[in-house]
Amino acid sequence: MHVKLWGTRGSLPTPQAPEQIEARIKGLFQGFFAAGHQQASEVDDYLAKLPADRFGGYGGETLCVEVSTSQQRLIIDGGSGMRSLGYELAKGASGHGQGELHILFTHFHWDHLSGLPFFLPLFIPGNKIHVYAVQPDLPEVFRTLFKKPYFPVPLEKIDAEIEYHQLMPRQPVTFDDLTVTPYQLDHPDPCWGYRFEAGGKVLSYCVDNEIQRVSREDLGLDLPLYQNVDLMIIDAQYTLLEATEKINWGHGAAPDGLEIAMREGIKQVLFVHHDPAASDAKVAAAEWQARCFYEKQLQMIHRSPHKLHELTWSFARDGMTIAL
Ligand SMILES: [Zn+2]
Ligand SMILES: [Zn+2]
Repeated sequence: MHVKLWGTRGSLPTPQAPEQIEARIKGLFQGFFAAGHQQASEVDDYLAKLPADRFGGYGGETLCVEVSTSQQRLIIDGGSGMRSLGYELAKGASGHGQGELHILFTHFHWDHLSGLPFFLPLFIPGNKIHVYAVQPDLPEVFRTLFKKPYFPVPLEKIDAEIEYHQLMPRQPVTFDDLTVTPYQLDHPDPCWGYRFEAGGKVLSYCVDNEIQRVSREDLGLDLPLYQNVDLMIIDAQYTLLEATEKINWGHGAAPDGLEIAMREGIKQVLFVHHDPAASDAKVAAAEWQARCFYEKQLQMIHRSPHKLHELTWSFARDGMTIAL
């Protein structure tokens, strides 16, 4: 299973302002010379050692994730990152009107839809786009999204054929070698995460999610979303302090995701839905706070009522790819 994160920002696309880019370039030059480098041939080595927040940053596109196997490709959510995915897909069959695509929606907040009107395969005759959600109002959402005065092309003028599918809560659906099961997340409007299984590997997509339910008892019917998982992608918009100030805003903090992951033995975690109000330095600071929490948990590993597991994890950035 291959996973590509086309967008990892939450709530609103977050482009860098020219002065932010200028400040970063200036800082890189200063750091390069301060480290004693002088040759252009030393640039690559110098940059490779820098943390994400000091070089490329985490990215500013809102959520869109591509999951593919040798037989199938599924897209999760249509945030602004979907625009770039559309260009990439248009180089293949969907660019010639022979594409068949499957898009699953977690919920319909703007940051998970705003790339959809700019998704090139929708405007190529002959393509067939299957769209899926647990929520029954998916066709209504499309009618509203592709409608004047919000968008110049009404739904009936979209070139590709769109087919709507309603998913049933906690009922698996099979796409060739990929099985997908929706589970409910903690969000003010109903939001469904997905468990993907293929070739003995499991991806769990848990965004948007306030992670109000952490214990096995509280997770109840939705516990399987977090069990026997190779990679979990989960919401970490806030620091722990912000999460306590923003109860019922619908977003989580990395320590809550880590608590579940360490208890359930999840092998790898990527945190996404970075706060649009956070600079790259602030996202990095939240990542460092989470690192302190994780190290502390490791020290208590033998005192915990549950067996705790070590894992690899990081805050994700746009364009990241993972092979399971
Ligand atoms: Zn969101
Ligand atoms: Zn949301």
